[in-house]
Amino acid sequence: MMSLWGNSEHQYFMKQFILFLISISLLLPLFATSSASVSVKNLRVWNAPDNTRVVLDLSSSIDYRITPFYNPDRIAIDIKNARLSKGIPHEIKNNPYIKRFRYGNYSKNITRIVLDLKKPVRVKSFTLKPNNVYGYRLVVDLFDKKKTVAAKIIRPPAKRTGIVTIAIDAGHGGEDFGASGKKKTREKKIVLSIAKELKKLVDKDPALRSHMTRTGDYYVSLRRRTKQARRANADLFISIHADAFRRSSARGAAVFTLSNSGASSETARWLANKENAADLVGGASISDREDVVAGVLLDMQMDKTLEYSLSFGGQVLKEMRKITKLHSKTVQQAGFVVLKSPDIPSVLIETGFISNPYEERKLKSRKYQKQVATAIYKGIKQFISHEKVAFMKPASTRK
Ligand SMILES: [Zn+2]
Repeated sequence: MMSLWGNSEHQYFMKQFILFLISISLLLPLFATSSASVSVKNLRVWNAPDNTRVVLDLSSSIDYRITPFYNPDRIAIDIKNARLSKGIPHEIKNNPYIKRFRYGNYSKNITRIVLDLKKPVRVKSFTLKPNNVYGYRLVVDLFDKKKTVAAKIIRPPAKRTGIVTIAIDAGHGGEDFGASGKKKTREKKIVLSIAKELKKLVDKDPALRSHMTRTGDYYVSLRRRTKQARRANADLFISIHADAFRRSSARGAAVFTLSNSGASSETARWLANKENAADLVGGASISDREDVVAGVLLDMQMDKTLEYSLSFGGQVLKEMRKITKLHSKTVQQAGFVVLKSPDIPSVLIETGFISNPYEERKLKSRKYQKQVATAIYKGIKQFISHEKVAFMKPASTRK
């Protein structure tokens, strides 16, 4: 047997083997970049009353295409050179749009994710770049085809009823957790609880009615929040938050309004920048991020609205002081995007700092959540009687 492996023959095989190793090492990086360059790491679903949002976590930016199919209804998300991580869900429970997910290869280098649907949908998709919370993401929003048409026909009531409409805006939601406490308490959850308590108080009052900009755990873009308030013919807009600060010693409640001449303090500027970045975390398409009211800040109407916002904020602060320490004794001002309605007095209330362990515990308690809601409610009542409802304008002036 040994004779078969003569010296020259052995060298020949060694040479072949080395060539083989070299060719493999050359091919490997090619394979990595051309056949499996993006990994789909996770898939999340968020349900809103009028849509479902599917979010894919990705290792890098992607080339993708979405195709709808009918009979049976389904949509295909095709991604070039993708690799799916294990643990991506196949099942989904109680979703109004999606029956299940299926995964497969459409062609050699295209991975297909199929959403089997319960009914035909309208699809809107966009990608998001990394931020300090997430990496690259693909967002696919599914809307009810019929509902959207119906929603456009409904117009706000033309005549005022004398009832004051309060837009209650629970900050963050869905992909955007907001701030987190040391004990992992999430701002989005706390502020929704407070918002719901406030809604109860407002709805019990025959002189008031409420509109919630979000009612569950899903993200609503900042622009859509103000749009909703306008559509509901809101007279006041109240955004509820419980943020974190760089120093965990920071504590106390604070009330903010818009500013047309820069921020009133460093904290106000810092918080406004943080809040304004919510769309990047929560996920908003470019059309949802356009700032339609930019440039109207110097309008006379805006000045009047700001005056009412400051007056209303002052009333809320007066009530908040009775239940908690104040971070600042006067209404603070900064360029919060969510407060930019030119004709609706708007305030943003920081109900406490979730980054402060003492306040985190307090914010989690039902008792404090109810106290905050009551303080805001009393602030609304004080403001209305103080301003004698002069701030209310006929609906026809609303755009
Ligand atoms: Zn916040």
